[in-house]
Amino acid sequence: MGIQQIKQWTYKLDGTGSTDWGDLCEAFAIAKTGLAQSPINIERADALTAVSVLPVTYHYTNLTFDCEMKGDRVFHAYPQENTNYLTYRGVKYHLTNWHMHMPSEHQMDGFHYPLEGHLVHTNEQGGVIVRAFFMKIGERDNRLLAGLAEQWQLAQSEGKKGSWQFNPATLIADSRETIYVYDGSLTTPPTLECVTWMVRKRPMIISHEQYTAFVNLLNGSNRPVQPLNGRIVSKY
Ligand SMILES: [Zn+2]
Repeated sequence: MGIQQIKQWTYKLDGTGSTDWGDLCEAFAIAKTGLAQSPINIERADALTAVSVLPVTYHYTNLTFDCEMKGDRVFHAYPQENTNYLTYRGVKYHLTNWHMHMPSEHQMDGFHYPLEGHLVHTNEQGGVIVRAFFMKIGERDNRLLAGLAEQWQLAQSEGKKGSWQFNPATLIADSRETIYVYDGSLTTPPTLECVTWMVRKRPMIISHEQYTAFVNLLNGSNRPVQPLNGRIVSKY
């Protein structure tokens, strides 16, 4: 046995794209053999209404993020400090990055939204919670995303680290809002099945100008929806 080889993956149609990830190398095989893969189509009528409130507490403050390009259509923003976290069922998960996919990865009743943002949190055992936010186009700029596309463009064109200020507390859902929760996987290789997904129903609104600024960076960066294989989606 040699050292496991990790292959370069992309969103292209050249044999390295999302439908071929499971065949690229042994480390990515779960992309085709896994039974709890993400994203999924969330059928609202099939979601099971939870009897409790979502057992989450948020510990978020204003942060500065480093904006980096990690690959073809893969842009991440990393907090400069490891201070923000949430707890889920009493376990601490630190905020590790913010990134986006275009169009949305998850579907709602069979439809994509124009964009989906992911706020990724990890615990010490390798468990992951991703809070997902759909975005749709409306009249006004979303000030939460102000400057982000420009900083990622800088990272792309000049290989520099961009810088972006963002307070994740602005994304804490109102207690009356619906959040869909299910067990799934990372949506990029290796698509490990270690993720609790929390998908907010209500989309964020962004302007057409903001959407356009993200097109060149992110368009086509979504993995297709995966089979549910009997998994339950809970509605909180
Ligand atoms: Zn993602």
